[in-house]
Amino acid sequence: MKIIKTANKIASELLNKKKIGFIPTMGCLHKGHVSLIRKSKKKKLLTVVSIFVNPLQFNNKKDFIKYPKTISTDLKICKKNKVDYVYLPQKKEIYPEKKIIIKNKIHFFKKYMEGKFRPGHFEGVIEVMKRLLKHVKTSYLFLGKKDYQQLIIIKKYLESINSKIIVVPCDTIRDTNGTALSSRNKLLDQKSLNIAGRIINFLKNNKNKIIESKNNLLYLKKIKEFGAKKIDYLTAFNLKQLKKTNKPSVNARVFLAYHLSGVRLIDNF
Ligand code: AMP
Repeated sequence: MKIIKTANKIASELLNKKKIGFIPTMGCLHKGHVSLIRKSKKKKLLTVVSIFVNPLQFNNKKDFIKYPKTISTDLKICKKNKVDYVYLPQKKEIYPEKKIIIKNKIHFFKKYMEGKFRPGHFEGVIEVMKRLLKHVKTSYLFLGKKDYQQLIIIKKYLESINSKIIVVPCDTIRDTNGTALSSRNKLLDQKSLNIAGRIINFLKNNKNKIIESKNNLLYLKKIKEFGAKKIDYLTAFNLKQLKKTNKPSVNARVFLAYHLSGVRLIDNF
């Protein structure tokens, strides 16, 4: 496994390499990230993992500062899973300019959910993705359904620029108690993790009722009773139409964001 810290070096290492699988991450790796790595390895791709906590996608500075960092464990996990290259850039490799001007405009699916509650978040995500993809010229991009809205927006962005990159959507890996694995879980104690488990299991068991419900008040109340402080949204979307829905179907999915013990968690099911 090679650890590469500069844009020029990773670009030159990958030059003329054909079958590349790229897994962009913000580190603090867990089994969710590992499932993406394994999918790439299974396809026999030259597997590149990037670890970079992108300041541009944090609308809240405190959230950025307290984002967990476990770089030496991350590197061990990558090595154990036979990652070929870890791209570990400093901020100046990704954003060499003094003043960063975000040029991209996202037109699809961004006024809802994360786009609505985290202004500028997706612009920051697309900006870092654009730059990472300049350094890592990949054929396949592995993205988790844990961040489903992000997955759709990146896919649509790539389509809009006629990119040939194939996006591989990967299922959400969960803890035994039902919570989606997330780097942010590291910031929670066991009691809070248990609450998160109870919330997600309750919601999953009531998926169709939530989709059909007009205002979700009953479910919002229940989430608070479990121990959540604040709920940003609990919304059902039809993923084909990219519209809110009240009809259960294979394309209907419930999206959730809430705050628990000072940590903001998202999930969908
Ligand atoms: P992050 O480090 O949070 O930016 O995540 C990097 C990639 O891993 C993204 O494509 C995420 O959607 C994906 N990911 C994060 N958590 C999980 C999970 N529990 N299961 C599957 N994929 C995940």
